Amino acid sequence: MIIVMKSDVVPESPEVEQVVRLVQRYPDVRAEVRKIQGATRVLTEIYLLGSTATVPVEPFEEFPAVEKVIRIRERYRAIGRHEGQAEAIGFEYNGVRFGQDQFLLFPGLCAVDSAENTEAMFRALEEMNITTTRAGAYKPRTSPYDFQGHGKVCLPFVFELAGKYGIRVIAMEVTHESQVDEIRDALRAAGNPTGVMLQIGTRNAQNFELLKAVGQQKDFPVLFKRGMGITLDESLNACEYLATSGNHRIVFCLRGVKTNFGDPHRNLVDFCHVPVVKRLTRLPVCIDPSHSVGKKSAGADGLLDIHHVTAQGIIAGANMVLVDFHPRPEQALCDGPQALLLEELEHFVRDAELVRRAYLDRCQLRERMSARAA
Ligand code: PEP
Ligand code: MN
Repeated sequence: MIIVMKSDVVPESPEVEQVVRLVQRYPDVRAEVRKIQGATRVLTEIYLLGSTATVPVEPFEEFPAVEKVIRIRERYRAIGRHEGQAEAIGFEYNGVRFGQDQFLLFPGLCAVDSAENTEAMFRALEEMNITTTRAGAYKPRTSPYDFQGHGKVCLPFVFELAGKYGIRVIAMEVTHESQVDEIRDALRAAGNPTGVMLQIGTRNAQNFELLKAVGQQKDFPVLFKRGMGITLDESLNACEYLATSGNHRIVFCLRGVKTNFGDPHRNLVDFCHVPVVKRLTRLPVCIDPSHSVGKKSAGADGLLDIHHVTAQGIIAGANMVLVDFHPRPEQALCDGPQALLLEELEHFVRDAELVRRAYLDRCQLRERMSARAA
């Protein structure tokens, strides 16, 4: 059960204390007070944990400071929308706004290889007025003989260059909790010139200890990638670990699922799940067309499959796009075949913006049609 307090009620108020005192009367039920950044306002929510099945909603609804009481139906209690009863969670991080009504592009390097390539990437982004990117320092690779990422060694130049080119948020995968400290230390040493969004890769989607550790820290928001070989429901439950550990600044990322039925793409593209995840959860939804498609094949119309699936995700309401670029893909140490060239950045951005406008038009059309029907 979630008790949503009215907008102006803060966690430390007597009104919240009153609700918590009432909760304490029920045996085996615990109250946890959380401050939530909603899409348009900050909310205080009280989560009732434990044996809540027999706890009635009415006594809580009677408090004047309570906006509503939500009976939880899905197993993902904290990130779930509970059939539309809980509102979307938006958040701002380092000047960038994330939410189910936002739209952000994160073009960048799959893996940081050299300072020269990183600088070329960031310069191209600055020319397009893009302040969000991806840059992998810690790479989870299928083979131990493959490039594993430069790790903490590259962080000083990545962060310094990010500051130089106005990058505000870098999505960066972590494969072990110790890397979170390395990132925090390197950012501090560089004078915090940028922000980092910690990425949980598909291979770690059910690494529950990593999820708990990343969920317990409050410095960085998290980009959670769905597991490539598990159901959507299992991925949502895994993502729930981040929120129950205390971090609610989460973006859920679709990146395809592994099956030969997706051939000739690297993964079966799952962007039809964008509206599903936005309906089931309070989280903004990201798509990763590069790791879904895995190659630069073009359609008969000349548009790359990567462009087509990006459009499919955006037209369905995606809030964020994580996409691989590289100044010299033939020399890239990881995922070169799926990287777009810097010369292709403008086309990618314009195409994505065009489809986003079409999505917003579709929403307006729906509103007009339902107003007419009413
Ligand atoms: C990545 O984004 O670099 C990555 C490894 O993706 P995924 O975890 O989706 O395979
Ligand atoms: Mn990759």
